[in-house]
Amino acid sequence: MTTAETFETTAPATGTRLEISLRPGVAFPDWSVVTSETAAEALQSILEAFGAETRWSGLGDGEDRVRRAILEHYGESGEAPSMAALTQSTGMARDVLGELIGKLESRDMVVLDPGGTITGAYPFTERDTGHRVRLGDRLLNAMCAIDALGAGAMYHTDATIDATCPACGGAIHVETEDNGAALAGFSPSTAVVWSGIQYFDSCAAESLCTVIAFFCSDEHLVTWRNAKHPGGKGVRLSMDEGLQVGKAIFTPLLAPASLAA
Ligand SMILES: [Zn+2]
Repeated sequence: MTTAETFETTAPATGTRLEISLRPGVAFPDWSVVTSETAAEALQSILEAFGAETRWSGLGDGEDRVRRAILEHYGESGEAPSMAALTQSTGMARDVLGELIGKLESRDMVVLDPGGTITGAYPFTERDTGHRVRLGDRLLNAMCAIDALGAGAMYHTDATIDATCPACGGAIHVETEDNGAALAGFSPSTAVVWSGIQYFDSCAAESLCTVIAFFCSDEHLVTWRNAKHPGGKGVRLSMDEGLQVGKAIFTPLLAPASLAA
């Protein structure tokens, strides 16, 4: 597959930034938290690779209710909801629910196994991705580094992240403060985020997310890129820039409609 070439992106000119109204007063993504130009470039590249404009546009109320219920369940229990749990939390009939979940899958907002069981919803997955996020007493697997960084802010809670450097297998640890909105600290102090760009098979979990990772240093990022993705497109982010991108994507997903709007 020669997908890397397909999704060549350039830094967007200000003013062409993708923004979708999710509900009154809530825009996706939240560009206001992106203060770094490099982070802005990475965010725009992710949105373009994901096809966010098409995938998020025209999201129906029913779809949005189910999408929120899935993420709320992840936050409360640390795992994907069963059909029974979702019929209870949404009050929807099972066939209606099944249809809406199918629509969310076609938008690549949820990931299902062949039997139709929910196995992921960005930022989370049931798979062990090497990006562990602790929210209180719940331990979850994030799809990728940016998803891990955005998870706490989405629930307005602090997160602890444990990841593995793809180059050397070394441990990377990140903690947030200010209810997930800021970095409390990370180790090693040289750690960075690589926001690679690739997307195929209509599933970011299988493509885009595999090239968005923490590395313990720029050296290890270079080693990995040369070995695994020579010439692969992407943006190198500081940890704080990675957090900006994560917050911009995930904070709006559970934000309530603003009464002022
Ligand atoms: Zn390393």
